[in-house]
Order: sequence, then C-alpha cells, then structure tokens
Amino acid sequence: VNLLVVGSVAFDNIETRAGEGKRLLGGSATYFSLAAAPFCTSRIVAVVGEDFTPEYEEVLTNRDIDIEGLQRAKGLTFAWGGTYSENFETRETQFTDLNVFADFSPELPASYRDSELVFLGNIQPSLQMDVLRQIDNPGLVAADTMNLWINDNREELLEVIRNIDILFINDEEAFLLTGRYPLLKAASMLLEMGPDRVVIKRGEHGAFLFGAGKNFYVPAFPLDDIVDPTGAGDSFAGAFMGYLAQEEELNDESFRKAMITASAVASYTCEGFGVEKLKRLTPEKVLSRSEEIQDLTSI
Ligand code: AMP
Repeated sequence: VNLLVVGSVAFDNIETRAGEGKRLLGGSATYFSLAAAPFCTSRIVAVVGEDFTPEYEEVLTNRDIDIEGLQRAKGLTFAWGGTYSENFETRETQFTDLNVFADFSPELPASYRDSELVFLGNIQPSLQMDVLRQIDNPGLVAADTMNLWINDNREELLEVIRNIDILFINDEEAFLLTGRYPLLKAASMLLEMGPDRVVIKRGEHGAFLFGAGKNFYVPAFPLDDIVDPTGAGDSFAGAFMGYLAQEEELNDESFRKAMITASAVASYTCEGFGVEKLKRLTPEKVLSRSEEIQDLTSI
C-alpha cells in the first residue's frame, strides 16, 4: 500500500533543559515519514531551498523515503525555532521563517497519484485540499491541523475535515475548534463534521481514538528522561499510518494496534534531539516498547 504525506521539511533550532540543537532536520513531513519508516516507505510532498544539502537528504533516502515529490525552490528552506519550558509543558516559538514555504504550491508527480493512504500534514488547509484533489482514488485520508488554521482559516479547514476519514488533533485544538467540553462532547462534534474517526492527543497523558468501532485509549510511555518533544505529534501520526499501511486488511483491531504503535514511536522521538532517535528506529524496538505500553494497563 502506498503512503503519501504532505507537510513541512524544515531546519529547526531547538532549546530544551537537556541542551540545544541548531539547524536540525525537522518539519512535519520529515517526522511523519521517518516514523512510518520501520513499517513502510512513504512519498513526500514538500518544498526545500538551495541550502538543503545531500547530507540532509540522505536522512530521508537512507530510510527509503521517496523524495520525487520534494520540490526544490530558489531561496532558503523553511526554518523554525522553539524553546521549551523547564517541565516541557509549554513551548515558545522563537522564529518562523517561511522562506520557500511562502510560495509553496504542492504539485504531485504522476507516480504519486495512485497513493492509497494519505496524510495531510499540518499546512494551510487550502494546500491540504490541493493535494487531495490530485490523488485519483485514496482509500484512507487523515489530516492534522493547528490553532493557527482553526483561528484564521476556519472555513477552509472545515472543508478539509469534511473530506477526510481520520482527524488527528490535540485536546486544546479540539476544544478551540468545537467550543465543546469535555473531550467526548468535542469528539462527537468533530465526528459530525465528517471523519469516521478522530484521534485526540493529550501529550504526556496519552491519546484517545473515538468514532467507528470501540473507543480506545493509549497511555504515553512514561519516559525517564525527555530530551526534545518536537515532532511527537507528527511521529504519532506517521507510525499510526505506517502501521496501517502494512496491514492486510483494516479492522477495529488494526486501528487499536496502530494507536499503541504510534504511542511507542512518539516516545522514542522525545528521547533525542530532532530526529536523532527516529532515524535509526527498527521494527523490533517499536514492538518491544509497544508491549511495555500494553503491560502498563493490562492485569
Ligand atoms: P510539533 O512538535 O508536532 O508541533 O512539530 C514541530 C515541527 O513542525 C517542527 O519540526 C517545525 O519545523 C514544524 N513547524 C513549526 N511551525 C510550522 C508551520 N507554521 N508550518 C509547518 N510546519 C511547522
């Protein structure tokens, strides 16, 4: 099964209590595709600038990620900087330099049009729709979003949500988008907007899957040491979709296993700066942590 992701490829400057990193390879499409890599290859739709050197590219191609849809534009790659508070509960954005991202117009190579699983990563909702229109007959479409689009591009975002099967969203965004509380009320309103399933992420408090089938909850793996939580949400989605891509058929059990796998991979992401832990992740490591997560709640 072919998995496609559209999102950002970025250079990140990150500061946490554990240290700092400069010009680390990041972006939603990067985290997503590397998190899916233990399970399947994926196709990237994104844009980079002239400063995107072969050593960065190799982080993706070493994991067999298809970069035919990675556009090269004149100028600099999107760059972002963030600083985390001591307890990792809040993050302050230091800068967002859109650079080549400002004029990004996603264009899919012909070879991508048959993609069956699609993830519309966190970019402007109208661009997410542009990508979706270019795919012939997608079997399963998921999307992610953020408060910026909920506040500024609400109508376009609602159109995206009408056209997808799974929405990934964190709890605060779910409350912001629906104006409903508690979680179950927000979830049922999101489901009325279109998707069959909604995954509501609660950071270190785990994630819920609501909608078709039985509701499901997965805890976050309790880490001894958090280094950098950047990209945990994109990694969660990447592992979730990657897990589904290698399943023979999709039933409720597959979605529940995908949730546990996603939680396992997201926890690895937090253990290193940028994609450090993600870029070498093996199916065996994911499986062993998935079992540890299951052990946390079974008697
Ligand atoms: P997360 O920790 O899930 O919010 O994801 C962080 C990643 O998102 C970083 O690697 C950033 O480069 C990227 N990012 C930050 N702001 C944006 C934005 N406005 N559009 C697209 N990607 C972004």
